[in-house]
Amino acid sequence: MTIFKCPHCKARYELIVTHVSFRQRSYANCQVCWKTMYSWDSSRVPRFTLLEKPDTARAPV
Ligand SMILES: [Zn+2]
Repeated sequence: MTIFKCPHCKARYELIVTHVSFRQRSYANCQVCWKTMYSWDSSRVPRFTLLEKPDTARAPV
């Protein structure tokens, strides 16, 4: 199991790379901050499953 962290908000995802028979150019948006967190141009297509949202609920001390 590979962990990928959103570079913007640090949300944690499980990353699973699947192989497809054609070259795909696409990108994935973070499900938390909606910024583009990953892009690819190949036949190896990542799938992301959100594991943990960044700890934004806790107020700074
Ligand atoms: Zn994010």
